[in-house]
Amino acid sequence: MADIYLRGGWVITVDPERRVIRDGAVAVEDGRIVAVGKRVELDRDYHGKSDVEIDTSRQIIMPGLINTHVHLAQGLLRGCADYLPLIPWLRDRVWPLQGNYREEEALVSAKLVVLEMIKSGTTAFLETGLVGRYGPDKIIEMIHSSGIRAAVARHVMDMTGYALEENILHEGLVELGDKSYKDTLRLYNKYHGWDNRIWVWFGPRTPGAVSVELYRRMSEKARELGTGITMHLAEVKADVEYTMTKFGKKPVEFADWVGLTGPNVVLVHVVWVTDEEIDILARTHTTVSHNPCSNMKLASGAARISDMLRRGVNVALGTDGGPSNNDYDLVREMKHAALLQPLRTLDAKAIRAEEVIEMATIRGAKALMIDNMVGSIEVGKRADIITIDYWKPHLKPMNNPISHLVYAAMGSDVRNVIVDGKIIMRDRRVLTLDEEKILEDADKAAASLYERAGICVEPDTIWKII
Ligand SMILES: [Zn+2]
Repeated sequence: MADIYLRGGWVITVDPERRVIRDGAVAVEDGRIVAVGKRVELDRDYHGKSDVEIDTSRQIIMPGLINTHVHLAQGLLRGCADYLPLIPWLRDRVWPLQGNYREEEALVSAKLVVLEMIKSGTTAFLETGLVGRYGPDKIIEMIHSSGIRAAVARHVMDMTGYALEENILHEGLVELGDKSYKDTLRLYNKYHGWDNRIWVWFGPRTPGAVSVELYRRMSEKARELGTGITMHLAEVKADVEYTMTKFGKKPVEFADWVGLTGPNVVLVHVVWVTDEEIDILARTHTTVSHNPCSNMKLASGAARISDMLRRGVNVALGTDGGPSNNDYDLVREMKHAALLQPLRTLDAKAIRAEEVIEMATIRGAKALMIDNMVGSIEVGKRADIITIDYWKPHLKPMNNPISHLVYAAMGSDVRNVIVDGKIIMRDRRVLTLDEEKILEDADKAAASLYERAGICVEPDTIWKII
């Protein structure tokens, strides 16, 4: 007897032995995984005796994916900021759009992104930085009601620059002084730990927008509260110039100096770093969130992920946002992560598909400090599980589910999504969100946002639209 019985198919467990079970099965009860093994053995206890039995004989069963770098407010910015490198991309397109949000539009953007993530197999994510004008309370409540798990960081700042560029943050995003820090604490007190699915983190802006004092204050507070902290670091060369010029330190040395290293810290991108900096990250158990699509599209550089893995850094995976990726599909991101390292190193063995799957699951769980709870299919863990339909031409012949998952699958192959033992997508239908309404609202909210910002009103194309 179980609440849910997933019967048949390949089970990629990512458990400590990294077992992969051919013709396996998984049983879930009271939100937990109660059995994992061969179908013939589990059938005795669960077949025909469970509340919900799903025939997964043509599917892969695996832990839910964990996206460690998401911008919920960038969902409506998809297609609005192509062909630009990071700083002009932020200054001229992304920030003016985000700085013009009204709360109802930001909520639509967040819903759209959560919907896309659920439909592509993400069961937990790390939002990098909500601000006051987006209406963080309503967004957090929507995340909770969608059934997904999330660590939600709120942006903290007391300056308006980016690296050596001063005063370039859009006025609509400026929150000076104590305000952003105190509002993070308010959200923490209100929502942190909600149903063991929502956590509130600090999300300091990138160096150039936060004083050393404020970095130190929030990193100490995060440690005291036992919560996390996430920040973009060393994404482009300008980030290295800034910390070297102002402080005589390389980016990771700077982060370490202000308290932004440790097992509760997720540093994002970390492209321009030396061996010594990689060793600091490994020694301090700091997570690096790798976002290969964003790094390629914004011409930021190729992060040294295979070197980081060899030197013992916890590397996880993220998609970044609508104007930098331009999707939130972590299955597709796995492919890019797997392709970028051979390209960078000219070594076909630079990274293995197994390592990439770990980055998208158990290493992501570690980044969010929830690896005791989720990130693998193991008896006793909470049931965050997805199934992937492989009865499709691009996933045949089914001779190697690990290879297919990384090199051939897409988010749209995800068929069922279970979070905390609850089915939130069944046969590709999301049960917790109104998909049709979100798609309609997205176009309407985007049109009013573009109009107000005076950006993206017409498509950026060199072809003629008639
Ligand atoms: Zn980002």
